[in-house]
Amino acid sequence: MTTTDLLALEERYGAHNYHPLDVVIERAKGVWVWNVEGRRFLDCLAAYSAVNQGHCHPRIFAALVEQARRVTLTSRAFRNDQLPQLLERLHTLTGYDMALPMNSGAEAVETAIKAARKWGYTVKGIAPNRARIVVCAGNFHGRTVSIVSFSTEAQYRDGFGPFTPGFDVVPFGDAAALEAAITDETCAFLVEPIQGEAGIVVPPDGYLAQAAAICRERRVLLVVDEVQSGLGRAGALFAHQHDGVRPDAVIVGKALAGGFYPVSAVLAHREVLGVFAPGDHGSTFGGNPLACAVARAALDVIVDEGLPDRSAALGAYLIDRLRSLSSPYVREVRGRGLWVGVELDRPARPFCEALMDLGVLCKETRERVIRIAPPLVITTDEIDWALERFAKVLR
Ligand code: PLP
Repeated sequence: MTTTDLLALEERYGAHNYHPLDVVIERAKGVWVWNVEGRRFLDCLAAYSAVNQGHCHPRIFAALVEQARRVTLTSRAFRNDQLPQLLERLHTLTGYDMALPMNSGAEAVETAIKAARKWGYTVKGIAPNRARIVVCAGNFHGRTVSIVSFSTEAQYRDGFGPFTPGFDVVPFGDAAALEAAITDETCAFLVEPIQGEAGIVVPPDGYLAQAAAICRERRVLLVVDEVQSGLGRAGALFAHQHDGVRPDAVIVGKALAGGFYPVSAVLAHREVLGVFAPGDHGSTFGGNPLACAVARAALDVIVDEGLPDRSAALGAYLIDRLRSLSSPYVREVRGRGLWVGVELDRPARPFCEALMDLGVLCKETRERVIRIAPPLVITTDEIDWALERFAKVLR
């Protein structure tokens, strides 16, 4: 089928909850994808950072196939041989005592919210049903009803109320506002170390460190959402490591399975995840053996191929080159690692469409920002290839 045929089918039979670029991808390898007509494009989105390891990485693929031959799903009614091995790997890699595996990023955020609330009641001693969580304006943590309850994007909420109570919104990057918002009923501060969907917004230096100190002093959990920023994207295994902080809980997803499978998790110390008793929380698919085998291979690739360091070095190069483009449309180039936002003075969509015509796939975020987030296995030559096209479009 051609692109035109497939677009017509999708328009007719699919819900219109996305506005994708009209490129119909049929296969992919590393940083490259091909459409149904066989045209090649450089992927500068990496499935919103889920394919940090590059598309169809052979090591992760091998783990998937090998595990799919043996057993794929047991549910947590029984145990499987892969889950303990993933849990141990996460512990040795991150130092957290425990992990709770889920599937999507939003589910892991919901899990962290439940853990924080239960910690608030059972450990901190907050009165029943009074626990509050401080979040940031401009946040993006997913699309469930509870999560959009504290979104500050009108479109994410319009038409979806009534909402879940118990959240207080403060400006991102403002530690004093966080401190002022905390009460005796606050159980957690939930924050992205860099706001991705808001347009790769990097907070002022020292913000997370100040937030961590405030949380410690006021006995509030620091819960960091690393679903998009983590696992190498921001030039470190976790973006919060740039600030030298140790959150009480870390939420991971996306690249945890290198794009082969939805796998997410909450990582935390025993004091936090230990609040869950059997029956408190669960998921039919969370922790299934296929997911765990894939996630272990995906983590191995991140570590063995040094992807966080690669992201730091190549990201600095990319940002530097983009800043020197001298475009009349560009207001700011910002980012960390291979995670770059190019803020324009006008809507970014036509620029993304022009880039697609030249063979580079990017997606606008929050209307005026072009997000550039290629798989972390990209080479300098490939970045230069993309930069030639950015130069053409942005000048
Ligand atoms: N948290 C952050 C920071 C994200 O960027 C996203 C997705 O973009 C999510 C959570 C939700 O993840 P998912 O789409 O897998 O539910």
